[in-house]
Amino acid sequence: MTLAYSVNFGGGETFYDWMVQTIVVNGPMDFLTDSDPAMAVLRRYFGFDGFRGFQREIIDHVLQGGDAVVLMPTGGGKSLCFQIPAILRHGVGIVVSPLIALMQNQVGALRQNGIRAAFINSSMTWQESMSVAEGAKRGQLDLLYMAPERILTLGALDWLSRMPLALFAIDEAHCVSQWGHDFRPDYLGLTVLAERFPDVPRVALTATADPLTRTEIVKRLRLDRARSFIAGFDRPNIRYHITIKNNPRRQLLSFLQREHRGDAGIVYCLSRAKVEETAEWLAGEGWNALPYHAGLHNDLRRHNQNRFLYENGIIMVATIAFGMGIDKPDVRFVAHLDLPKSMEAYYQETGRAGRDGLPANAFLTYGLEDVVLLRQFIEKSSAEAQIKRIEHRKLESLIGLCETGSCRRRLLLRYFGDHPPETCNNCDNCLSHVETWDGLEAAQKALSCVYRTDQRFGVVHLIDVLTGKKTEKVLSFGHHKVSTFGIGKELSASQWRSVFRQLVAGNYLEVDTEGHGGLRLCEASRPLLRGEKSIVFRKDTVSPKKQAKGNKPREGVPPSFSGSGKGRLLETLRAMCVEVAKEQDIPPYFIFHEATLKEIVAFMPTTLEELGKIHGVGMRKLKNYGERVLRVIADFQAQL
Ligand code: ADP
Ligand code: ZN
Repeated sequence: MTLAYSVNFGGGETFYDWMVQTIVVNGPMDFLTDSDPAMAVLRRYFGFDGFRGFQREIIDHVLQGGDAVVLMPTGGGKSLCFQIPAILRHGVGIVVSPLIALMQNQVGALRQNGIRAAFINSSMTWQESMSVAEGAKRGQLDLLYMAPERILTLGALDWLSRMPLALFAIDEAHCVSQWGHDFRPDYLGLTVLAERFPDVPRVALTATADPLTRTEIVKRLRLDRARSFIAGFDRPNIRYHITIKNNPRRQLLSFLQREHRGDAGIVYCLSRAKVEETAEWLAGEGWNALPYHAGLHNDLRRHNQNRFLYENGIIMVATIAFGMGIDKPDVRFVAHLDLPKSMEAYYQETGRAGRDGLPANAFLTYGLEDVVLLRQFIEKSSAEAQIKRIEHRKLESLIGLCETGSCRRRLLLRYFGDHPPETCNNCDNCLSHVETWDGLEAAQKALSCVYRTDQRFGVVHLIDVLTGKKTEKVLSFGHHKVSTFGIGKELSASQWRSVFRQLVAGNYLEVDTEGHGGLRLCEASRPLLRGEKSIVFRKDTVSPKKQAKGNKPREGVPPSFSGSGKGRLLETLRAMCVEVAKEQDIPPYFIFHEATLKEIVAFMPTTLEELGKIHGVGMRKLKNYGERVLRVIADFQAQL
C-alpha cells in the first residue's frame, strides 16, 4: 500500500511515514488502562499536569457519551475538551472547523505533540483527501478536521456512517447564527448530524458570548439535551489601558518603548490609508512593523501574515480584516489607534492578545473626533432606523467604557452578562485612582457658548470663543461680541476639549451629522443649563499611568527576565525555536510556547527527565527537541 499524501504538517513526511513514526514513538496505548486515562493523555501528549476551569467536567461528560455546549473565552482551552475525548473514545473524532488556516494550525500543533490528526479541505486534491479518508477508516486517526461543506456532501455522510466515530466537535459554533458577523450558511446544514448520527456525542464550542447566539446554537444543532458549560468571559492576563488622544503616535511609541520592545503585537486602525501610513512610520522609527488590509495584493498580504506568524516580534498594523483565524498565542499587545464600533468588536479584537495566558496589554487612544466620526458613520449609513438605533446603543456602551472612572474590566464583563468584583487591579483605572472634578459651571459655560454662537460650530471654534481668542473666524462671525466670549479663561484649551468630549460622550450635546461636526443642544442640555442636575468630569491623563505600587504579577506567571543573564538564555531558546520551526516550515510557537520557554529558563533542567516535567513538554516534543534544549542550557551554563 502506498499513501501518497504529503501536506506540510511539519517534517515534510508523507502521511504514511508520519503515521508509522507516531506509533513507534508513542508506544502502546497503555494510558487506556491508566486509572485516570484523561489525565494520562494530558500529561503524556500535552505535557500539562492539571485541567483548567471546566475542562475536566466537559471531558468526563463527553467520554460518557454526552452532548455539550461549551462557552469559554479565547485562550480558555476549548480544544482539549474535544481532543482528549476523541483520543480516548473508540473511533475518530470529527472536528468541524470553518477556516482552512484554523484547521492547519490545530492539526499542525497536534502532530507536534504526536497525536494522530489530519484534515480534509478544499486545498487538497481528491486523491489526497481519499488517502486521509482511507487512514481514518483503518482506525489510524484520532482526529479528523473537516470543513462543514465537505461533511455535508452525501458521499461524506455515507462514508462517515460506515466507520466508528468518537464524537463530532463543532468549533466556532457561533457561525451557525444568522445574526452574528461570522455567519456561515453551511453551518445550518449541520442539523443533519443529529439525525444521521444520534448516538455520536456532539460538542459545540464558541467564545461568543451573547444569549441569542447560544439559543441559536442549541436550536440549529439540535443540542436540546446537551449540557451547557459556560465559563466566565474574563481574560485576567490582559491589562486594559484607555487614554485620551493627544498626539496618538507619540502615545503609541512611548507605550511600545515602555512595555513592548521586541514583542509581537497588533495595531488596529480604521482605514487602509492609516494602516499604511502608520506601518511606514513605525518602521521608520525602527520597529518591525508590517501593514495588513484587504486592499493589499493577496501575495503581499499572505507574506506579511506569515512573517507575523513565523518570526518573533513583528508588529502588524492592520484593519479589522486581520484577526479571524490567527491563533498565535504570544501576541503581547493589541493597540487601537481608532475607536472600534462596539464593545463586542473591542473585546474580540483585544482578545487576540495573550492567548498563552501570559501578561498582555490592550491599549486604546480615544478622543472626541472618534465619537463624532463614528456617530456620523452610523447616521449617514443607509441602514434602517432600528438597526441604527442598535448601532448607536452599542457605540454608546463603548464610549461609556472609555469615559468611566471605575474598573474597565468590570464594565466589560457586566456588558457580557458576567458578575465580576468591583475592582480587578489590572486595568488603568484600578491601578491608579481617577481624579474627578465638579463640572457644572464649566458645562454651563460650554453649553451657553454653543447656544450663543447659533449651535453650528465645532469644538475648536467654541474653545477659541470661550478662551477669548480673536481669531479670524471669531471676528468674522462677530463672536467676540457674544456674552460667552472670554468667559472660560480659567481652563486651558485642552481642558475645554476634555469638557466638550465628556459632554458629547454623555449625550449632553448632539453632533451635527450632516455638516462638519458642529455641536447643538438637546433635551439633556436643559437641566444642566438650569442647574437642576450636577455633573462630574474625570481629569484626563494623557500619558498612561504608572503601575500602582504593590501590584504583584499574577500567580503562576513566570517572572520577566529582561536585562538579566537569563534573558539571554530566553533569547537563545527563542532563536532555537525559530530555527527548528524554519526547518519544518511551521510557526515557532508550534515548537514551544513562550510560557514553556520561560519555565525552562526559570528551572534550567539538565536532564531529559527534568525537562519532561516542564509544562508544555509532552513525550513527543521531549524526544524531538529535548536534546537540543539541554544543549542550549549547557552552553549557557558553561559561559557563566
Ligand atoms: P481556545 O481554543 O479556547 O482559544 P486553546 O485550546 O487554543 O484555547 O488553548 C489556549 C492555550 O492554553 C493553549 O496554548 C493551550 O496549550 C493552553 N492550555 C489549554 N489547556 C491547558 C491546561 N490544562 N494546562 C495548561 N495549558 C493549557
Ligand atoms: Zn479594573
